[in-house]
Amino acid sequence: MGEVGFAPAVRAAVVTAWGAPLDIREIAAPRPGPGEVLARIRVSGVCHSDVHQWKGDWPAERALMESFGIRVLGHEGVGTVEAVGPGVSRFTVGDRVGVPWMNYWCGGCEVCLTGYSQWCAKAQTTSVTVNGTFAELASVSERAAVSVPAGIPDDEAAPLMCAGVTAYGAVRRLVSELRIPPGKIVAVVGAAGGLGHYAVQIAQALGYRVAGIDVGENRVRFVRELGAEWAWDAGEAEEAIAAVGGADASIVFTPKLAGYELAFKLTRLVGGVVAVGIPDPAEGPLPITPAALISRGTRIVPANVGVTHEFEELFRLYRAGRVKSHLARRGTLTDLSGILQDMADAKYVARAVVSV
Ligand SMILES: [Zn+2]
Ligand SMILES: [Zn+2]
Repeated sequence: MGEVGFAPAVRAAVVTAWGAPLDIREIAAPRPGPGEVLARIRVSGVCHSDVHQWKGDWPAERALMESFGIRVLGHEGVGTVEAVGPGVSRFTVGDRVGVPWMNYWCGGCEVCLTGYSQWCAKAQTTSVTVNGTFAELASVSERAAVSVPAGIPDDEAAPLMCAGVTAYGAVRRLVSELRIPPGKIVAVVGAAGGLGHYAVQIAQALGYRVAGIDVGENRVRFVRELGAEWAWDAGEAEEAIAAVGGADASIVFTPKLAGYELAFKLTRLVGGVVAVGIPDPAEGPLPITPAALISRGTRIVPANVGVTHEFEELFRLYRAGRVKSHLARRGTLTDLSGILQDMADAKYVARAVVSV
């Protein structure tokens, strides 16, 4: 595909200093290299990772953003293919496409070939090593680009690109890694948040008995409305779960060590803990000693976004009406700084989206 017709500049929300209001300005338009798809973004979801990256409080991501010169956040983009680079066959101009967190993985290394491409050493990530989706155009490798089916509106599809698929991947690990079958009790820690609210619905849809846990009356009420069998405040969760024999597994979405501390208390012997939320590294390591780990037989499994087949499975659940995106905030690029700050302050439940 030639370069004729490329917009020379695109509007974007640009990070100029860590934690400072985003600057809405024009940046050079990205161009699709070999094997890449260029997406014209219509809607982008806002993720908790955006808050951490915006504030610069994840050292590894901050260093990568600096070394790759990345200034545009956002990794939940949905739009239309604007152009394709040489060698692209799965997408053509005009197709609906999603741009997720995973922007590229090699597909040929041992990690990729054993089904863990999220951990590919050659992976590229949207908004960390490739400019993100808070811009009119964003590029993604054909391999990582998501084919978004009809029947899911843009604003509901966008948060599935990270929050939805991450929640799906975390719930899926109950079966794929932990061998905990449907029917068992799963505690979702941080159940009212962007990821947690999907996990509650997905785990219920797959037949688990869900105890959704969050902090404060409003958030607990929202968890109950999502259809969780039990909805508890974090302060009452330990006693309440003991009354039903403990959780067979806990999934931690809360990006605080306190969430992990609670999960280890809620989980019964030989149970599983799925780690999703990423506390500030300054909070320190996981709050469990090797002695406790071994004596309780606790199995800890990390979950990290999702890839192609997980999107397809999630879309099927969505189209069957078993999962819904709850959008608490909507805005445009100019509203982003306020939305990010409100997310940092936990001022809304579920998810926010911006039109681009
Ligand atoms: Zn995310
Ligand atoms: Zn690889």
